[in-house]
Amino acid sequence: MDNQKLAELLFPNNKWTVEEIEAKYPKRNLKEGAEVTRFAPSPTGYMHIGGFFQAIIDKNIAKRSNGVFMLRIEDTDKKREVIGASTIILEILKKYDCMPDEFEEKGVQVVGNYGPYFQSEREEYYKAYAKKLVSEGKAFPCFCRKTEGLNDVKEKREKMFALGITEDKDPCRNLTIEQVEEYLQEKKPFAIKLKAKGNGQNKIKVQDVLKGELEIQENGEDAVLLKSDFMPTYAFAHAVDDHLMGTTTVVRGEEWLPSYPLHIEIHKALGFKLPKYIHTPLIYKIRENGGRTKISKRIDVEADMRYFSKEGYEPQALEEYLINLANSNFEIWRKENPSAPLDDFPFDGFNITANTPVFDIVKLNDISKEMIAKYDAETCYQKLLAWAEENSSENVDYLKKDKDYVMKVLNIDREKEKPRKDIYKWSMVFDYFDYMFSAPKTYEVDESERKKFEEVLRNYKNYIDLSNKDIWFGKVKEMAEKLGYAVDNKEYKKYPEKFKGNVAKVCEFIRVAITGEKNSPDLYEIMSVLGQEKVLERISLIV
Ligand code: GLU
Repeated sequence: MDNQKLAELLFPNNKWTVEEIEAKYPKRNLKEGAEVTRFAPSPTGYMHIGGFFQAIIDKNIAKRSNGVFMLRIEDTDKKREVIGASTIILEILKKYDCMPDEFEEKGVQVVGNYGPYFQSEREEYYKAYAKKLVSEGKAFPCFCRKTEGLNDVKEKREKMFALGITEDKDPCRNLTIEQVEEYLQEKKPFAIKLKAKGNGQNKIKVQDVLKGELEIQENGEDAVLLKSDFMPTYAFAHAVDDHLMGTTTVVRGEEWLPSYPLHIEIHKALGFKLPKYIHTPLIYKIRENGGRTKISKRIDVEADMRYFSKEGYEPQALEEYLINLANSNFEIWRKENPSAPLDDFPFDGFNITANTPVFDIVKLNDISKEMIAKYDAETCYQKLLAWAEENSSENVDYLKKDKDYVMKVLNIDREKEKPRKDIYKWSMVFDYFDYMFSAPKTYEVDESERKKFEEVLRNYKNYIDLSNKDIWFGKVKEMAEKLGYAVDNKEYKKYPEKFKGNVAKVCEFIRVAITGEKNSPDLYEIMSVLGQEKVLERISLIV
């Protein structure tokens, strides 16, 4: 077979040769050791938390080595593409402080010289490399789907086996040039397939940065490189792109490991240097039955990164949480450096420690609480407002109109040495401080104590004094003593029967009257933010 002739027949109108393309993508001018990484999502309409996990690793590897982090949109499967999906991806990367150094914003800007950053715009490159492979006898056209009415190679093989032909290779390998010419004249669509070297029976050794040397099944399949619409498969496209774009380390999900031998074979056929590969573990979640399964878009709201924005999580909290999942020494570092910026942590993308990272929202909430507790009231206000503007428009007017009051509410138990740590997302603020905006609807009082509760409140109306915390508490104690409650706790412990309770009980009754609950942030702070009038109003609702 004259491969050169075959290549010309199949690709008569290619725009560029491989040599011309290579000349357009010179080697990057980076210093020794600089890593080039890329996040390469398919635009399927949302961004998976596992994808973001990879993007963080990509970003850190590039940043820490003074390299380059790119975003490449793998949009060759037009059937699966969702319009606007690449915008969502970019927005999330921006919001979550993971902006690539090189990317393309459709119709707005292209940043970087190694684009296009959308695979669908790189069609001519794939055609050029496919033509080269055909001309070298490493790839061949396959006309099967339409000619024999067969759906896939599997069916075709089965048919061959039935005829007693046991060679596990694609029959289209054996077409003569005349047959190809005839098919082309008939305008039969064709795909380009790789001539696999092995038969899939043996194991080969492959390298993964995290897992070290692995033995996996070699490729035995004449895999499709270009589909009949000339769009490439992932296996072929990523090899061509990573080569031209100068990728040094590929970070991708573990689900790609089984096809890794095919990818290696494609790189070899093309004469490309194989980049380093990091196959990241997938993120799991513990299920109700105690088992664990992959976090999934179908059943877990947290699979979609937009969930965290909608709920008002701090982007840095999520990033910190995922870094903590990835590097097991993070927790110790954070304890030793409680206020250091996250960037100071020597994150090691080449050493992801968790084999099976398990997503734990409680841990994320804790990280977020710590972070938010450090903010001053103004920062909280600005972040709450920004969240509301995007996700809770009904609250925006109020937040703007009553900024002073909201600031006071946000400042309760804040800006002090030991601030309260319970807010972990902005969407919870209104519920959490519900009682600061309206009177409680229910009261946490035991029926057996109802009479005492009412007695305290009836009396307290005459003792409210919010001038300062000492005066306020002095007045509470004065009333407590008068009503027969102990103000000296030692005395109370010794002779509990002599008292109706202690002053803490009295405070609890007042707290319940104001907030509806037995637990709340500092009672005096709450009362002084509400003010004398509202406090009296609330008590009057009860007695
Ligand atoms: N488009 C592929 C995916 O979304 C990319 C894998 C890779 O990073 O190479 O899984």
